Amino acid sequence: MIKTVFFRAAINRVMPLCLLVLAGTSPAWAQNGKALTDAAKNNEWLTYGHDYAETRFSAMTQINDKNVNELGVAWSFNTSSFRGLEGTPLVHDGVIYATRPWSSVFALDARTGKVLWDYDPQVDKSMGWKACCDVVNRGVALYDGKVYVGAIDGRLIALDAKTGKELWSTLTVDQSRPYTITGAPRVVDGKVVIGNGGSELGVRGHVTAYDANTGKQAWRFWVVPGNPADGFENPDMEMAAKTWFGKWWEVGGGGASWDSMIYDPEAKLVYIGTGNGSPWSRELRSAGKGDNLFLSSIVALHVETGRVAWYYQTTPGDDWDFTAVQGLMQTELVIKGKVRKVIMQAPKNGFFYVLDRITGELLSAEPYANLTWATGISKETGKPIETKSARYKDAVSAVMPGPGGAHNWHPMSYSPLTGLVYLPTQQGSRFNYVVAPDYKYQPGKWNNGIVLGNSADLPKRPQTDYVPGIGPVNPTPGALLAWDPLTNKPRWQIDYPNAINGGTLSTAGNLVFQGTSDGHFIAYAADSGKKLWDINVGTAVVAPPITYELDGKQYISVLAGWGGATALFGVNPSGQYKAEGRLWTFMLGGDKNIVPVKGQALPALTAVPFNNDKAVLAKGSDLFGERCAMCHGRNAASGGAIKDLRYADPATYNIFQNIVREGAFAGLGMPNLGQYLNEAEADSIKQFILSKRADLMK
Ligand code: CA
Repeated sequence: MIKTVFFRAAINRVMPLCLLVLAGTSPAWAQNGKALTDAAKNNEWLTYGHDYAETRFSAMTQINDKNVNELGVAWSFNTSSFRGLEGTPLVHDGVIYATRPWSSVFALDARTGKVLWDYDPQVDKSMGWKACCDVVNRGVALYDGKVYVGAIDGRLIALDAKTGKELWSTLTVDQSRPYTITGAPRVVDGKVVIGNGGSELGVRGHVTAYDANTGKQAWRFWVVPGNPADGFENPDMEMAAKTWFGKWWEVGGGGASWDSMIYDPEAKLVYIGTGNGSPWSRELRSAGKGDNLFLSSIVALHVETGRVAWYYQTTPGDDWDFTAVQGLMQTELVIKGKVRKVIMQAPKNGFFYVLDRITGELLSAEPYANLTWATGISKETGKPIETKSARYKDAVSAVMPGPGGAHNWHPMSYSPLTGLVYLPTQQGSRFNYVVAPDYKYQPGKWNNGIVLGNSADLPKRPQTDYVPGIGPVNPTPGALLAWDPLTNKPRWQIDYPNAINGGTLSTAGNLVFQGTSDGHFIAYAADSGKKLWDINVGTAVVAPPITYELDGKQYISVLAGWGGATALFGVNPSGQYKAEGRLWTFMLGGDKNIVPVKGQALPALTAVPFNNDKAVLAKGSDLFGERCAMCHGRNAASGGAIKDLRYADPATYNIFQNIVREGAFAGLGMPNLGQYLNEAEADSIKQFILSKRADLMK
């Protein structure tokens, strides 16, 4: 058993000798006998977080702290995509499987990068507006000769692993609501399990398990209750409904679980991390009261039924978009002299949690970042001790961390050899929360129920209410923490000038790999944090790296491509505009002549006349913020992943009404907004964009 050996290694600090024995043994996930092959080896990468434990740790040592500077390019593959690459590639039987924006899947020869097949689920691109945070995809699942992908439009699709041909497809969501799938499916106990996103726009989140061979639904876990008048699906929902007030079901309630999922095959429990409320504001969602189960929680589900075994809510009555969808991982730790089977998570809210994964008992919860919304987690109740001004209603509360969280989706890794969790964190400034006056649910736009960005004129809560940040981190925009989950302190820390850096991989070669949003791919010594290798690949690396071995040679692979929520809202640390994505693969003795990816040049600007009327521009600014900014960036300044409207060909403005109100560019992902905007409103948006173009030319 891999887990046991890792555990002993962690206890005794026995160095890689016992880990080396693992090469060639079956990983835990293959034990139910229906894995892709009986010969599945530990030197492959078979599921999202490497194995069921999802620690993203590899026992391989060929590439190590002594020779990592000999890494060069084995091969690279241009993904022909220009939006975010967030995926974890999987490797099995000499093939590497990865995904790109709009949920397409490609299979390459893992030795050479040669294309074996390429599958496009043909998503209707006009639904891209439903994706809060770019049309990204974080990867596939592999099982029994099949590749599973969740398409952004809500389909779960099984492909033949050899040919890429579709075997079955099932619709997992109600497409009349703004659900999306960006996360990787997991296969557990013969079932393929998938969640979804959409809480920003208004959904009722759920996680559903399907028979891996047929696609037939096995069970569904609703994260939040529906309208009690319709009856409850099961006693879990009846219990959860006691923590809700008002008419939460009208917007949906939220809780969408769009990323994290792990499995303990001995306990037969599936653990999921759940999302924020829909809308964000508890005032609007639940009459300002109640814990609102199972929002922002870690929930353990029985694998046979999908029913709740236990839950722990990290942010009761969420008001701040503090999802607990961040990566979960399991290991064994010795706490107070006792071996505990634990689950670990660093959700958005800034506390690092260690729970007993069999009972759900809270073992520790300490801040890993600066935060102002709570002064700690009560040892008695297990609940946060909120500060007086954390919640908001009709006055602005400036709260840290904001909706970006102190840690977002970028996966952490854990090395049993160092006992450290390698955690990519970010430290934003305080975020202004205030309830949107006269809020009403409207389809086709964000429904978070707060005023986004325009709160300057609103009353503010007194600053004296704030407590200083309590995290141990110096407030740099981004940092990699080597977090000790026993002492709850970072053993070392790397500060970055930008937020949104990549997920991490740690190895028994005493290495941690991480990419950065300004286009670097770096290896650190896992024990000391010493930088050992650093290359410039040109585009942002936000995806987590993987490693695998073929013919006795160890490789490191990582996807590079800028996108995601930050990109859409208008910041690009690498300074690139529409740069093509790439899958890079490195090996010892590879090509050291690394040519960074270059983006497109922005066209020269010519003046286009516009209506300088203040009222028109103000209207256009508001409507742009409501309908367009989520893809085209605040103030029309796109963050380099998609079209910067200010640079559009002047002729484009002549057909502006056709594009916005008739869907002329629907095939490219620009939805038809005809049902939401009249001609004058669309024109005010056009005048606003043109004014921003004029600003650029000043
Ligand atoms: Ca959210």
